[in-house]
Amino acid sequence: MDVELPAQVRRWKDRMHRFVAEELMPLEPDLPPFANRLPAEDIAALVRRMKDAGLWALAVPREFGGGGLGWVGLCALREALGHTTLCSLGKLLGAEPPVLLYDAGEDLRARYLLPTIAGERYGCFALTEPEAGSDAANLSLSAVPDGTGHYLLNGRKVFSSHADEADYALVFGVVPQGPGQAGGITLFLVDRGTPGFHWVRRIETMGGDRPSELVFENCRVPDANRLGATGKAFDLAQRWFACDRIALQPPIALGAAARSLALAQAAGVAPALELGRLALGLHAARAMLYHAAAKADRGEDVRHDASLVKATATSAALEAVERAMAWFGPRGYSRALPLERYYRDLRRFPIAAGTYEIQQFVVARGLLRGYAGLDRMAAPL
Ligand SMILES: Cc1cc2nc3c(=O)[nH]c(=O)nc-3n(C[C@H](O)[C@H](O)[C@H](O)COP(=O)(O)OP(=O)(O)OC[C@H]3O[C@@H](n4cnc5c(N)ncnc54)[C@H](O)[C@@H]3O)c2cc1C
Repeated sequence: MDVELPAQVRRWKDRMHRFVAEELMPLEPDLPPFANRLPAEDIAALVRRMKDAGLWALAVPREFGGGGLGWVGLCALREALGHTTLCSLGKLLGAEPPVLLYDAGEDLRARYLLPTIAGERYGCFALTEPEAGSDAANLSLSAVPDGTGHYLLNGRKVFSSHADEADYALVFGVVPQGPGQAGGITLFLVDRGTPGFHWVRRIETMGGDRPSELVFENCRVPDANRLGATGKAFDLAQRWFACDRIALQPPIALGAAARSLALAQAAGVAPALELGRLALGLHAARAMLYHAAAKADRGEDVRHDASLVKATATSAALEAVERAMAWFGPRGYSRALPLERYYRDLRRFPIAAGTYEIQQFVVARGLLRGYAGLDRMAAPL
């Protein structure tokens, strides 16, 4: 891989930086401290301006009407977006590529994929349950065929980000195995407003992301809304995790860390040696990030890389933000600077989409089972 970003990606990254500086940063003081939403009309205006600036759906494949910038492009855009604390605004995340829907059939493409890419519909991811998250094999939400071409969903989901504003949920449910009938964990698209689909509450957190609890009570979902084959939800989920662990969380974290260190440097509060140590970690994480993104663009398996990148980048970034906050003393802790907000918001990254420990576990499993080797991991780009 060229160590430089491709020229086209650099141009779009610069444009995103300008959009962030001109359109988003001025709104930072308006963002409530424990929420990542602005009034609906402000968000709608931002989405319009993002589209006018050509910054919408840039990383979505061309066949779906996107800009085709790919993973490297998506990482670069999101690194720029990380320079504002508005980086986690739910509806702006509509600009994220809905990778889970890429292989959907014609009907689901028309009803979900294309409207999502256009920013007209918006989905949330509902995997975690009170007794199952890291151990996803423990899922208990049941999805039982009722003999009329529908499934009856019963169970509870927790920590579903942005479910309070989503138009539909991607729900993981367990289909029982019957005689001559496949079973296992299966993915369903469930529209908000479907009878039996209850949004229960927001879960208060230390950051802006206040995920939701959802309950499904005899919620009848047509077979046409099953995404992928019965029992194959995790094949699809792997794709989502790879995207989240490489292109969604790490670049935002690295952008936030870069801004935090730059603020400290500009204010003259950054101790040189510690600044250097943190910069080393961030630089290494960035190199890993673009290495993984380039592999993904070549269509290679990046599950192993995804865990390496997520664990390395999010922890290096969180440490940098925390140190910058410390160097500023009480000002760093105050809301006068974006650091306390970054610190609270970034803290979710070593938890959501697989904890730090789970990423280590995935890396170890890859090595022990021979899916990946230390020599291959160190192979030249
Ligand atoms: C802000 C936020 C947003 C989220 N958004 C979503 C979302 O949109 N959709 C969704 O489905 N979920 C979401 N989640 C849930 C998140 O993905 C899970 O909480 C996470 O994967 C951990 O799973 P768990 O809840 O089962 O925790 P647990 O597995 O119970 O974790 C508790 C501790 O045990 C450790 N642990 C668990 N298993 C092992 C092991 N085998 N080896 C070593 N240590 C282990 C964990 O690392 C952790 O430190 C979100 C969570 C947060 C905090």
